[in-house]
Amino acid sequence: MPHYDVVIVGAGAAGMMAAIQAGQRGRSVLVVDHGQYAGEKIRISGGGRCNFTNVHATTERGRDRFLSANPRFALSALSRYTPEMFIAMVREHGISFHEKTLGQLFCDGPATQINTMLLGEMRKAGVTLVLETGVESVAKAESGFALELTTSSITCESLIVATGGKSIPKMGATGLGYQLAEQFGLRLVETRPGLVPLTFETGALERLKALAGIAADAIVSHGKTAFEEALLFTHRGLSGPAILQISSYWREGDSIAVDLLPHQDAGEVLRQARQATPKLQLQTVLAGMLPKKLAQLLGDELDLSGMVGDFSDKKLALVEARLKGWTLKPVGSEGYRTAEVTLGGVDTRDLDAKTMAARDVPGLYFVGEVVDVTGWLGGYNFQWAWASGYAAGQAA
Ligand SMILES: Cc1cc2nc3c(=O)[nH]c(=O)nc-3n(C[C@H](O)[C@H](O)[C@H](O)COP(=O)(O)OP(=O)(O)OC[C@H]3O[C@@H](n4cnc5c(N)ncnc54)[C@H](O)[C@@H]3O)c2cc1C
Repeated sequence: MPHYDVVIVGAGAAGMMAAIQAGQRGRSVLVVDHGQYAGEKIRISGGGRCNFTNVHATTERGRDRFLSANPRFALSALSRYTPEMFIAMVREHGISFHEKTLGQLFCDGPATQINTMLLGEMRKAGVTLVLETGVESVAKAESGFALELTTSSITCESLIVATGGKSIPKMGATGLGYQLAEQFGLRLVETRPGLVPLTFETGALERLKALAGIAADAIVSHGKTAFEEALLFTHRGLSGPAILQISSYWREGDSIAVDLLPHQDAGEVLRQARQATPKLQLQTVLAGMLPKKLAQLLGDELDLSGMVGDFSDKKLALVEARLKGWTLKPVGSEGYRTAEVTLGGVDTRDLDAKTMAARDVPGLYFVGEVVDVTGWLGGYNFQWAWASGYAAGQAA
């Protein structure tokens, strides 16, 4: 029966990085994936340009940008494999990139360049990759593990589980990582979709439908957490970076608040308009501040027909409140079908933060999205995949 020092299940971002590191250390490494290709999520990531890291991922600011039942867990791995280290590999491979916004680094060309780079490094490190091969069972062997694959039986000393989360099942996501965690006695933190568009009940949707396709810069908040980015109205509800970010914090039954005029004193603008152009329709004043259809919707909802000069302080204050704190109550999200990530996963209390090893199962490791660590939108999730994969690849 073939034996490997390290078997890695999942040829995604975290699995490939772990394979490179273990292979470079001279370990015999096999990577198994049931998909037809390695790195499918890398290929479609960042709109096809792969937002492969964020320069703030390990700075003081970056430290708050990972969600987990224990947000400190990720810091050890993140501080030992920094964005600069991944950027150095990208440069070495001659891949050009740019900072789009907020520290987010994207390839100038197709995201497949990142896959080509990782596959090339795997080959150089002597890693064996088998695709279109599933895992039927994993059992503890006398020393290490015995795996029944759909094509053969193998044994290994160390097993790294890099099967990702539940998002986008049609791209190969399965619950295998969670099943293996449970099988070996690790706890799980409840999973839910993250970085996902939010949906609304039919009545609200009917009203918002007219706005589909409109984007606006906004501050979207949930409790004390707020994101200032673009907001996009869709046929199903709300999307855009600001909504995807807040979706990771939102829970069923909660409301979100939208500031449609970030950094503007809306009350002052309205009062000035009343003084300077009292005969102008308030609706027209609003259309100067917001996309026209959005101004129209707010005007209709708040019954704002008439000249701005005729509006009392009290009524203008109502308009201001709506512009600066529009409260919306989503009924749900688009779910794993479109979620970019899965929140929750393997409980970090059962993992060693330095190596990603299961505390009570020698030789078993969990890396990447399957672990209860989820980053913000903007390259943080790949940085976690690289850093956790690196940590396990150095130890397994
Ligand atoms: C549309 C989209 C865009 C994204 N864009 C970005 C971005 O630009 N920047 C960013 O930082 N993050 C982005 N993300 C998130 C990022 O892709 C993930 O966080 C990251 O891929 C997680 O890496 P992973 O290796 O843990 O899991 P994955 O990349 O999901 O890899 C898991 C692998 O395991 C394999 N697998 C699963 N089950 C089994 C099984 N039973 N048997 C064998 N193999 C199995 C899968 O086929 C897959 O190849 C995006 C996600 C999506 C969905």
